[in-house]
Amino acid sequence: MSFYLESLNELEREILFELEKLHIYDCHEHLVPESERLSQEPDAFTLFSHYCQHDLYTAGMDKKTMAEILWKPGDIDRKWQRFEPFYNKMRHTSYCRAAHITMEKFYGEKELTRDNVHIVSKRIKQANTKGLYDRVLRDSCKIIASVNCDGPLEDTHSGRILQTVRAIDELCSREDIIKKLGDKTGSLDDVLKAVQKYIGNAKTNNAVGVKFMAFPIDGATREDARATLDFLLSDKSLHLPRRNPLNEYILCCQMRMAHENELVCCMHTGYWNDYRELSPSNLLPFIMKNQDVKIDLYHVGYPYVREAIMLGKVWPNVRINMCWTYLISQIFAFEALDEMIEMLPDNKIFGFGGDYYVVEKVFGHLIMARETISRVLAKKVREKILTQERALEIGRKMLYDNPKEFYGFKD
Ligand SMILES: [Zn+2]
Repeated sequence: MSFYLESLNELEREILFELEKLHIYDCHEHLVPESERLSQEPDAFTLFSHYCQHDLYTAGMDKKTMAEILWKPGDIDRKWQRFEPFYNKMRHTSYCRAAHITMEKFYGEKELTRDNVHIVSKRIKQANTKGLYDRVLRDSCKIIASVNCDGPLEDTHSGRILQTVRAIDELCSREDIIKKLGDKTGSLDDVLKAVQKYIGNAKTNNAVGVKFMAFPIDGATREDARATLDFLLSDKSLHLPRRNPLNEYILCCQMRMAHENELVCCMHTGYWNDYRELSPSNLLPFIMKNQDVKIDLYHVGYPYVREAIMLGKVWPNVRINMCWTYLISQIFAFEALDEMIEMLPDNKIFGFGGDYYVVEKVFGHLIMARETISRVLAKKVREKILTQERALEIGRKMLYDNPKEFYGFKD
């Protein structure tokens, strides 16, 4: 038995084994096309890039060292020397746990050491061949398809990668407007036409959603947006904060346009940069007026967890997506899920999204997701809130039926 099952009790394991049989939808990734991954020269440190780098950084590793160790090929012994002191500080975190589970599964080592860093590097290079994505996502994770962010629209990986596009955001200066919307933008109608074209193009090219970052809504009108646009176009030295009437108005219009094009609004909430402006509650004024617009609320708003749950509780058009959550903290994910199952109908939660750039790590995160979901479901069974059969039904709906129904996926 693998080390990650050791702490589960019998009922939790029984539920987990049932969840492992399911073919599932992966509700959020950041995967580059497989061809791009194969052109890279990964080594053992690649497994500690992406989210692990946040813990390495806050442990004290500087950004230049981080970039050299994690994102570029180089001398393995030299990299290890620079990596080890910071790795020792963060090797117990949830981000690191996903890396360790991944490393054990695919490259045969539970943790990285001076002695195995070369062999892990060799194995990851040897496995970096055509078919890697299918071996990981389809064969090891039983993923039917992954909703992906930041990939090119044409990269569909035979229908297994479903792309989303980033909303046009941060219209804060004349330069931003020209860069994002083209240099023919003289009026608000021009701006709206360019945005409409962008969203329409995403739909034509089979995107399934538009990815937004949550934003504060201060009630900007068309007139406010027009005045802000004129102001910005009048002086190229002007730079407004993201929270400005033009940006707000255009983001709200894009959410409507996404809906009119039958695209889901994939909404990042919480944790990232200045997460205060990414609080889920900021969206409330929009949701109250637009109850037909489908919103897939990412990350349960961490740290604004109850604000996110509340939106799921109250509004029929909002779903709560557990993507990234088990990596941030399995304790938070456990508690959020425990509370949500008590509060929400069974069609409201999406159980998994790897949220990864490095494909193998999706597996590590999925193991943690299944472990947490099993623990929560087992708790509900023990407390006699759910029968085991009903618990498994809810588990299946979270991992398969709910995203399928909301997005209209066809298997
Ligand atoms: Zn993400």
